[in-house]
Amino acid sequence: MPHRLAVLVATPAHSSIRGPLSYRSELPLAPGTLVRVPLGRREVLGLVWERDPAQDADRLEMEEKPILGALEDIPPLTLTWRQLVTFAANYYQRSVGEVALAALPPQLRGLSALQLARRLRRKPAAAPQHDAPPDVTKGVALTPEQALALDGIAAHPGPFLVYGATGSGKTEVYLQAVQALLAGNPQAQALVMVPEINLTPQLESRFIARFGADAVVSLHSGMTNPQRLKSWLAAHTGAARIVLGTRMAVFASLPALGLIVVDEEHDPSYKQQEGARYSARDLAVYRGKLEGAKVLLGSATPSLESWQASEKGRYQRLAMPSRIGSGQLPAVKLVDMNLQPPKTVFSVQLLETIRQRLSRGEQSLVFLNRRGYAPVLACNACDWKSECPHCSAYRVFHKIDRTLRCHHCGFTERVPRACPACGNVDIAPLGRGTERLEEHLAELLADTRNAQGEPVRIARMDADTTRLKGALESQLAQVHAGAVDVLVGTQMITKGHDFRRITLVAAVNADAALFSSDFRAPERLFGLLMQAAGRAGRDAAQAGASEMWVQTWHPAHPLFGALRRHDYPAFAAQQLKEREEAGMPPFSFQALVRAEARTQEAAQAFLNAASAAAQDVPAHEHVTLYPAVPMSVQRVANVERAQMLVESTSRAALQHFLTHWHDVLHATKEKGLIRWAVDVDPLAV
Ligand code: ADP
Ligand code: ZN
Ligand code: ZN
Repeated sequence: MPHRLAVLVATPAHSSIRGPLSYRSELPLAPGTLVRVPLGRREVLGLVWERDPAQDADRLEMEEKPILGALEDIPPLTLTWRQLVTFAANYYQRSVGEVALAALPPQLRGLSALQLARRLRRKPAAAPQHDAPPDVTKGVALTPEQALALDGIAAHPGPFLVYGATGSGKTEVYLQAVQALLAGNPQAQALVMVPEINLTPQLESRFIARFGADAVVSLHSGMTNPQRLKSWLAAHTGAARIVLGTRMAVFASLPALGLIVVDEEHDPSYKQQEGARYSARDLAVYRGKLEGAKVLLGSATPSLESWQASEKGRYQRLAMPSRIGSGQLPAVKLVDMNLQPPKTVFSVQLLETIRQRLSRGEQSLVFLNRRGYAPVLACNACDWKSECPHCSAYRVFHKIDRTLRCHHCGFTERVPRACPACGNVDIAPLGRGTERLEEHLAELLADTRNAQGEPVRIARMDADTTRLKGALESQLAQVHAGAVDVLVGTQMITKGHDFRRITLVAAVNADAALFSSDFRAPERLFGLLMQAAGRAGRDAAQAGASEMWVQTWHPAHPLFGALRRHDYPAFAAQQLKEREEAGMPPFSFQALVRAEARTQEAAQAFLNAASAAAQDVPAHEHVTLYPAVPMSVQRVANVERAQMLVESTSRAALQHFLTHWHDVLHATKEKGLIRWAVDVDPLAV
């Protein structure tokens, strides 16, 4: 009988089981090897894991279940990759197997060893070939600021905060940092992350132009499963030198990783919002340390966490305050809405400015962070409003298909002909979204002609108009080609795009964030407005005349003062002072436990019971547990939601506490409870 070995395997087991499970194998298997194993009644993909001497005592009894097969054609995942996964699982309070398996391309999970072998034979993954080396000589003459930044990157270990104005040439710095890495090491690989899928095509073309199509692969959720497997294998085997991707790419297998770039590092999209709620930015910094790879975090408006780290010297700050060429940042104009006639949507001044742009053949961009036609439909006779029957939220009126759609649960109905409550036919939209804004602007500009003497071409870009595959690309292409005079959209249009002809950016209603209960709302608004301003005047020839307009009811708010001066450091200093006084992050560390249940009472009872039981958990004395409260949207799809904030002035103490509290949470039972989850370093509280 062959010798039987116990092998630990990370599997997508239930999250109450934190570590890998033990299986038996007839052959020794190296950690990192992909295997197929039985799990319950299923057969699943697993990863051979190292033994943890500290935990081995618990697992002396060997699982009787055998490993069914190893995917030997794929080289094992590296030690540092496994360390990254282990860290992420521990830090974000999930199981190692869940994090490890979620980080692999979905198609890999479904393939048997045999199918995989066939696939590899049919379409061999390119082996690392470094005799067809990418041409790394192309590049532009650097500006002095770019040169200084690159010198800094070469001279220090980092991590770096590339604090560069929009249009200061950060992307060029990333390109040349990658170039320097590849020139110095024929095996090295780089990982470049952007917050949104929308931003990948443009970045991809810049990287391909510089390094060639063979060197670059993308990894994001907009790809088909076969594409993702192909990219993943190219990175894993070392054939791809550069991986471009969204947050999921932080877990890409890159055996020779030498550089990580996190562009727009402040963007909330880097935080995963389900499963293991990781921050790809924070993991990038950790991964850089593990792998000895340099990390560049880039932003014109860094997160206050990263800014604080650069103030304290934990991150090396590289400042690039000037725009490329003679380009200036747009002048910021505030319109005091208190002085406008009631119900004004576009102030006369703003309309006049848009008309000037039109006569000069320049483009304008108008943004409003709300899609749909109107956020609420209301009856003028009774107090009926378009509430969602399943959520504590209003359904949004979408005029284009005459529907009421819930943006939380998706519940959609045709707009009723008359008020469902009283039968009155006079029901009307309240407030406005991008669809209504576009319609209104078209009315206001109906008699205006553009520079070619033609009717004004208005286009709208938001999650609704870009739902279909390829729609976003074609809409962006139209803007770039100058086939659009005025672009109306949500924050989607404010991010990253290198629009060349836009000289006017207008925020028609940005006030909501000023008085939000979320302490991060001002930070987000400032970033959004600066980012939006950055879309204007990117072409130096027009930059002198470029403007950013903000319509507001609170023109004296200090946030707008800092915005006018493009003074992020002053804004950050003021915000950090407030946060310090209030003991908010980055001066404290938080976790949220969210519970979902049939009733609000059950959701809160679960949280409060787990809180009471925390008194016996190590490190609880260093942690504050707040009472359970309903979430801001309390009910979604008939499920009641509550949350509880856990806070500490010490990250280590919070981690220590959460690790031990984990079992308490799993042991806490409450009738009607559906599920719960821990969110470490939550972005919205
Ligand atoms: P950012 O990422 O900071 O917004 P980009 O890297 O996109 O800025 O640069 C803005 C524009 O300036 C791009 O069109 C880019 O090609 C151009 N650019 C960048 N660096 C240089 C340079 N050194 N010389 C000339 N043009 C440059
Ligand atoms: Zn009514
Ligand atoms: Zn709903």
